[in-house]
Parts: sequence; structure tokens; C-alpha cells
Amino acid sequence: MTAEPVIDEQATPAAALPATVRASLSPSRAADFKTCPLLYRFRSIDRLPERPTVEQARGTLVHAVLERLFDLPAGGRTPDAAGGLVAPQWDRLVTEQPELAGLFDPGDEAGTAEFLRSAAGLLEGYFAVEDPRRLEPAERESLISAVVDEQLLIRGYLDRLDVAPDGALRVVDYKTGGAPREAFEARALFQLKFYALVLWRTRGVVPRVLRLLYLKDAEVCDYSPDAEELLRFERTVVALWQAIEQATERQDFRPRPSRLCDWCSHQAHCPTFGGTPPPFPDRSAAADPLRDARSGPAAPGADE
Ligand code: SF4
Repeated sequence: MTAEPVIDEQATPAAALPATVRASLSPSRAADFKTCPLLYRFRSIDRLPERPTVEQARGTLVHAVLERLFDLPAGGRTPDAAGGLVAPQWDRLVTEQPELAGLFDPGDEAGTAEFLRSAAGLLEGYFAVEDPRRLEPAERESLISAVVDEQLLIRGYLDRLDVAPDGALRVVDYKTGGAPREAFEARALFQLKFYALVLWRTRGVVPRVLRLLYLKDAEVCDYSPDAEELLRFERTVVALWQAIEQATERQDFRPRPSRLCDWCSHQAHCPTFGGTPPPFPDRSAAADPLRDARSGPAAPGADE
């Protein structure tokens, strides 16, 4: 094993982790490798920049609005209240991530207004499938983590966790992308099982429901895992991590073309499309190859 110590101090103080932990893996990066090893390399090792798209920005905005919505008293969580959060949340996001401002030409007020309206449209999809006045989430946008196989820290951000009075857990993930759902459903479920595994390992409870809320289609997709399945999934995650390490050691990340290539930002560097990958970074420069890159907008086409 060649993983470097890549512990996210903000998520889990290194001092609180067993000394055996040597690497971390997020569902996004694990799913990248599963989808296409070369995509994983471009994102996690080469760190090639990906310009945010309007669709990604809309997803980030809608997630932000839904998170803030639950700050309001239950009775106030109405469609109007959600609509009223859209513009202020966009202003906040642009302040925090100035690159988002570049999505629209300066002075393109009509384009910005249309964008904000489209985000409000997704929120209508949300209200068609849930009534937030009847919900009291236990956690929102919370970072959860667990150690598996003694050496691997797995971690990720939950959109929402609901806890029933009997202690049953429901993991909820909002999907805002406009891409065909079937192209990304396996990836979305992989992500949710990842969270379920973390919760099971840390709280001793298998989540009763893993819920995908497709806001564009106003549809709910529920899945109920069991412990045996999560055990198998854990082995899959560990095997994936070992495969990532082996590929890193050999500097061998192959393209795996699929429908998802249509949403890939790196076709220009991909041999499948006639491109050439950049030289493999030297290991010191490529340190932290397993760190989650979730610092900008969520990546539709990846997680959306
Ligand atoms: S274009 Fe397709 S094959 Fe190439 S890196 Fe992206 S996802 Fe992989």
C-alpha cells in the first residue's frame, strides 16, 4: 500500500483517528475511479481545473436554499419562503466563489434572472414531493466519516439526515441535474450506500431508507439496504481503494468510455477523444491523491 497520509483535519482531527489510518476516500472520488480511472486521475491527481457550468451552479444554489429553508420555523417553510431565499443565496455564493460570477456576462441581468427562475423551478419540484413543514432534519450538509479496514477513512457530506422517533435513519440526497437520470442513477446509489456504510459503522444502525429526490422530475427514489449488503459494499470500497493505490503506483489510469463522457470536462486530454494526458505529476506534487475535492460547486455529470 502506498497511500499518503491524507487526513482532512477539518473533518476528523488526525489525533482522533487510529494510528493505522493512512488514507481517505470520498464517494465522489471513489465513484470517479469506478466510472473511469482516467477521470479519477484528471480530477484527483492532475487536479485539472473544471470550470463551473450553469447546471452545476444551479445545483449548488438549490442545495444552499434547501439547507437554509430548514433554518426557518417549520410553519414558515413555504414555497414563497424558499423562493425568497434564491437571490440572497446566489449573492452569497458569488461572494464566496467569485468564479461563479463569470457564468454570466457582466450586465446580463436577463440571463441571471432566467437562471434564478430556473432554480426556483427546481424548488417547485422539491415542494411537489416533500412538505418541509412536516420535517425536522437531524442533520444537514453534515460531514460524516468512518474508518474501514483499519487503514481507510471514508467520508462525505450528507445533504440531509432524518431520524425517526424510533431511531430509524433516512439519508436524503437532492439531485438537481438535467442529465438523463438513468445515466447517473448507479452513481447516485453508490454515493448513498457509501453514506449508509459510514452511518452503520459509526452509529451501529443500518439506515432504513436511502432517498434520492430528483427535483427536475419531482420524483422520489427510495432504497433500503441491509447489513449484508453494506458488508459487501465495504469490501468493494476497500478493493477500490487498493485498485486506486495500485494504479497510482503504476501511473496507469485507463480511460473507460461511456455515456458519461458527454459530461466530462477533460475530453481534450483524453486519448478516447484524440487527446493526450499531461505528464504524470511527481509523487510529491501529487501528494494527497485521495483527498475529496469537494470545495466548489457539486459536479453534475458527476454527482448530480
Ligand atoms: S472523456 Fe470519458 S473516457 Fe475520457 S476521461 Fe472523461 S469519462 Fe473517461
